[in-house]
Amino acid sequence: MRRNPGEVEFHQAVNEVFDSLGPVTKKHPEFVEAAILSRMCEPERQIIFRVPWVDDKGQVQINRGFRVEFNSALGPYKGGLRFHPSVYLGIVKFLGFEQIFKNALTGMPIGGGKGGSDFDPRGKSDAEVMRFCQSFMTELYRHIGEYTDVPAGDIGVGGREIGYLFGQYKRITNRYESGVLTGKGVSWGGSLVRPEATGYGAVMFANEMLKTRGASFDGRRVIVSGSGNVALNAIEKATALGATCVTASDSSGYIVDEAGVDLDLLRQIKEVERGRIREYAERRGGTGTAHFVAGGSVWDVTGDVALPCATQNELDENNARRLVEGGVIAVAEGANMPCTAEATALFQDANVLFAPGKAANAGGVATSALEMQQNASRDAWSFEHTEARLEEIMIKIHNQCAETAEEYGAPGNYVTGANIAGFVKVADAMMALGVI
Ligand code: NDP
Repeated sequence: MRRNPGEVEFHQAVNEVFDSLGPVTKKHPEFVEAAILSRMCEPERQIIFRVPWVDDKGQVQINRGFRVEFNSALGPYKGGLRFHPSVYLGIVKFLGFEQIFKNALTGMPIGGGKGGSDFDPRGKSDAEVMRFCQSFMTELYRHIGEYTDVPAGDIGVGGREIGYLFGQYKRITNRYESGVLTGKGVSWGGSLVRPEATGYGAVMFANEMLKTRGASFDGRRVIVSGSGNVALNAIEKATALGATCVTASDSSGYIVDEAGVDLDLLRQIKEVERGRIREYAERRGGTGTAHFVAGGSVWDVTGDVALPCATQNELDENNARRLVEGGVIAVAEGANMPCTAEATALFQDANVLFAPGKAANAGGVATSALEMQQNASRDAWSFEHTEARLEEIMIKIHNQCAETAEEYGAPGNYVTGANIAGFVKVADAMMALGVI
């Protein structure tokens, strides 16, 4: 901690993993002797750079860009880019650290990394977003490549931003290197199901957990936070499995729609018009079942299953207590670290099925790896085939977490299972590669 002052989210993520590792270090003293834990906490490389760009008024703006290449024991660094004003080194390192274990859990040959900028795409014109992305890539391009480091999207980085980034990479390098970025549009090297994969995958994981108690999504009332890529697709999949998703949110507040969220309307507002969540309640009409709550927390609403899909530390101990009192039976983190450590402990103490983000939201990066496979073989798979691969991967991740938790004396504890299974895979590879 003294080596990384002020990086609170990074400390939180490291503590959460290390809390699970007692039984592993006992069983594998060689990991301790080889300083595997300390080495894992130190990124292999950290890049921080200036991103100058010109806004629509002709004024020069300066943002800060980051890429943390954390661990490449299993494959090229892989992880998204986040554009949000809250981004600083501590956020990028927490996300990159989580990504190491998440990527290991997928069983695909990918290492862990993450990046982004404190640039805020909200309220910017398309031309401003393009100029920013071009400037960002003008530095980033020299550090990435299909065998080196393969970025993707995250908060504030979707298909539009990946397009501008890929265009600038192609222009600078004079190479149509499809595998350098994932989350591309389907007509220029992207994979079907990649946009849906994180939200779908989180619901698939939650469904596997529910099955262990003879339950399912059918007829369940589901509380979802966020209204971005992950949230919208989680709502789609949970609804397809028979659930009623009654909420969505953004940083201005949340909506409750007791009839179930009208996904077409929500997608129109958030994805097409890039509007605010309030507009959903204003335009829902018809049933008159929807209302908007300004500010506040979506976790004031209770349900059978909770899917936090917005951002880190959005669900605290008080929120967790309220959900437990309201009868929640399962929580699956679509976002990265949305539940505080205290909230997680409270769910576990109450015997609520709890899926940590590094397992539940791994479907996105797994499908990114499938996109890399398609790029490498100059192929494009059907939606059905790719979704079937995603489901197979999510079931495998679920079973691996459950079996590892059992093996290490913590049956039913998916946090312990995910941390240990991911850690051991990376640690074994690091041992084999020597002290590097
Ligand atoms: P998007 O940018 O598409 O959406 C983020 C959503 O969360 C928006 O609705 C945003 O609202 C809301 N949000 C952000 N910050 C806050 C906040 N402080 N309070 C309330 N709402 C907030 O991002 P994604 O859906 O891609 O990512 C969501 C989460 O999922 C992140 O934790 C990300 O790391 C994680 N994740 C994403 C993956 C992916 O494939 N996209 C893969 C794995 C994990 P607003 O517009 O007002 O900011």
